[in-house]
Amino acid sequence: MSARRQDFPLLAATPGLHYLDSAATSQKPRVVLDAMRDYYERDNANPHRGAYDLSARATERYHAARERVARFVGVADADCLIFTRGTTEALNLVATAWGPANVGPGDEIVVTGLEHHANFVPWQQLALARGARFVVCPLTADHHVDLDAMRRLVGPRTRLVAFSHVSNALGTMNDVRTLAEIAHGVGALAVCDGAQAVPHLRVGFDGLGVDFYAFSGHKMCGPMGIGGLIGRRATLEAMSPYQFGGDMIEFVRDDHSTWNVLPHKFEAGTPNVGDAVGLAAACDYLDAIGMDAVLAHEQGLVRLATERLAGIEGLRVYGPPANQRSGVVSFTVSDIHPHDLATVLDQDGVCIRAGHHCAQPLMRRLGVSATARASFYVYSDEGDVDALVRSIERAKVLFGPAAVG
Ligand code: PMP
Repeated sequence: MSARRQDFPLLAATPGLHYLDSAATSQKPRVVLDAMRDYYERDNANPHRGAYDLSARATERYHAARERVARFVGVADADCLIFTRGTTEALNLVATAWGPANVGPGDEIVVTGLEHHANFVPWQQLALARGARFVVCPLTADHHVDLDAMRRLVGPRTRLVAFSHVSNALGTMNDVRTLAEIAHGVGALAVCDGAQAVPHLRVGFDGLGVDFYAFSGHKMCGPMGIGGLIGRRATLEAMSPYQFGGDMIEFVRDDHSTWNVLPHKFEAGTPNVGDAVGLAAACDYLDAIGMDAVLAHEQGLVRLATERLAGIEGLRVYGPPANQRSGVVSFTVSDIHPHDLATVLDQDGVCIRAGHHCAQPLMRRLGVSATARASFYVYSDEGDVDALVRSIERAKVLFGPAAVG
């Protein structure tokens, strides 16, 4: 068992569990749980409002958490990091607050065929609502975004190009800088879904060239219920708020109101201090390992898994080679439905995801309705790969003729 597994109470308590669904959500290390407990036991109050010391401490914890997370994602101006519930809310924030004011009839929004629904449907709906054209960029044969097609598809009417940093369904790592350049070349904004990148790579928002970047804390050892949107200051300042209420206002008159400064303008209501504190502790945890080591560890396991899986007759792996992807392996086994496969694996304590991975447009392009997906993280080890392979072999025997390649 990997020593790092001991940092994660759930995994330490269940030695027979092979948790291979970290792309859906990661397990939480003790230090994150402790940090949140510490906040609630010592410093909990509603921040920003109270004149008393306890509230000032809660405010300080929230502020410090933002500074810490901003440092982790590489944005020097921490006020440009808006805390949201996660990636989905962050992308919807842009679609709602930036979209209607900037996209009109005849304009275009371009996304890629790799996207999670969270980075597809908000733009599709914005285009439908505004009478704009919604364009989906095709993929190459090896499941990368087709950059030549992207160059052809964007034009003077393109207002926004949305793409993921890393695909949740295939692990494909996209060339974010080039995609951002293509968008900027026609005066469009570049929006990047970083849900599967921030947990695994050193992202460095300030050097990436994109205008917006979204991520989720729960996939990077942090708690559920917090994530972020990073944006460029000028763009965020030009945008109107999308939710109204406490904290986000400056003055409220009977007939009009004015807005607070960043980041508060986009954080209406009582903020999620406890989860922000947990997310900051997750950043400490990952930085102590080192993000280069995190990625190298995952890619080593993906390499091992793809080699071992290649030996199983009838098994097909989707996506690029191991060195061009993060810790995700998507596959099908002969005619066994991925859901049936996942059910058998579960009996062996192997947790994988099966389905369309919230990426139905991608599944259509792959010509399948679903795949099985194993995803690795800092606590995964070779024993997990062994268990995965053993359990798939057992499923093949169980399903008999359906499993013939
Ligand atoms: N984008 C990608 C690539 C994802 O993997 C996910 C989570 N599966 C999301 C967006 C949505 O993230 P959340 O559910 O945390 O908002």
